[in-house]
Amino acid sequence: MSYNLSYLKTKTINMKNFEDYSTQLTQSVGSKDGLVSPAIANSASFAYGSAQIAEDIFAARAKRPLYSRMGNPTSARLESIMAELDGGVGAVATSSGMGAIAMVCMSLLKSGDEIISIGGLFGGTYSFFSETLSRFGVKTHFFDVDELENISSAINENTKIVFLESVGNPNMRLPDIEAIANITTKHQVALVVDNTITPMGVLPLQLGADIVLYSTTKIISGNSSALGGIAVFRAIEDEDKFKTTRYAELEKIINKMGKMALVANAKKRALRDFGMSASAHSSYQAMLGLETLPLRSERINSSVEFIVKALNEKGLNVNHPSLPTNVHHDRYNTNFTQGCGTLFTIDFGSKQSAYSFLDNSKLLTITANIGDSRTLGLHMASTIYSDFNSEQKEFLGITEGLVRISVGLENPQDLINDILTASKE
Ligand SMILES: *Cc1c(COP(=O)(O)O)cnc(C)c1O
Repeated sequence: MSYNLSYLKTKTINMKNFEDYSTQLTQSVGSKDGLVSPAIANSASFAYGSAQIAEDIFAARAKRPLYSRMGNPTSARLESIMAELDGGVGAVATSSGMGAIAMVCMSLLKSGDEIISIGGLFGGTYSFFSETLSRFGVKTHFFDVDELENISSAINENTKIVFLESVGNPNMRLPDIEAIANITTKHQVALVVDNTITPMGVLPLQLGADIVLYSTTKIISGNSSALGGIAVFRAIEDEDKFKTTRYAELEKIINKMGKMALVANAKKRALRDFGMSASAHSSYQAMLGLETLPLRSERINSSVEFIVKALNEKGLNVNHPSLPTNVHHDRYNTNFTQGCGTLFTIDFGSKQSAYSFLDNSKLLTITANIGDSRTLGLHMASTIYSDFNSEQKEFLGITEGLVRISVGLENPQDLINDILTASKE
């Protein structure tokens, strides 16, 4: 039996904080009857029992597992917890965060369609849009988070997705998600938000997004133990059936699946054919992470503010919207009241100084990951963005001396001491 979460719906979503999710998540991951820790369904296929049941499963009349590429009971449990968390109607777990992005795009786009990508952007997503989807005839237009008028006027009849990240990684620019959702609603384009950096802190579906997705590899699992991703979908409402552009090509599936159409569409038009399916073991790891996610998020978000303030006072060139001089400081205070995740950046001015800082630090782990229990650091220009030309790097805010830091669970004063010492040597 799973824990009844319906009481949460009576609360105003904006009033929720990390503390409220502690009850929801610990209780919904565990069971009151039988196995307390979720079972890992270690089976690629599932026996149907009878020929008739097999037919019913394939026709979606019987709700039973078909084959692990199309869904697995362990992943299904993660999907229902995440759907509840984000206020969606359903979710689909994937092999990785990129798997979730690819699934969403491949399920909604065809050759000739266009994407509008705002802010950010995670290097993998940027390459997927600019190099891979372009080979399939899908064009992406890139904008900064504050170019609302340009975004509005770039939308045309081929625009199917507006994509944004809740926090620009690594430029730390914050989008006004609600203002962007107003534009996508007006123009009937699907808004997809990559909320990897701010789970629970930002609830994109409540702000008007259609789909929210995550790399669960990051803070959700939280300890570098498992690669995974997930997309959470909003319910299709009656009014969506009569509107033109947003879901024009989903008419058949909307008529058949109603509310669940976006979920079914992702499974049928992407997961089934591309196979970016989640492994049961990774879904289990993600659920273990969810149990402590509120605690870890609260700790890390306050550590980030504390560290950034101290380093700024010591004269390091730190970028984070909690600093009063940051362009998005007001937006940080009003829309990101619980913080904006584990990241901040330091610009050391040159590649050489950045390298010496990273090599001198005793606490930082040099790796491309973020959202780990340990504090991680990486020089941006020579790694994730090494293939990018100077124009692309400028757009994404990648300077020669830029180091991205993802704060972990260590004592924040220890981190401050280590960073200050390493930057002086
Ligand atoms: C890491 C990351 C991804 C990709 O996730 P993987 O699990 O590595 O495939 C997508 N978006 C953001 C914001 C990320 O940080």
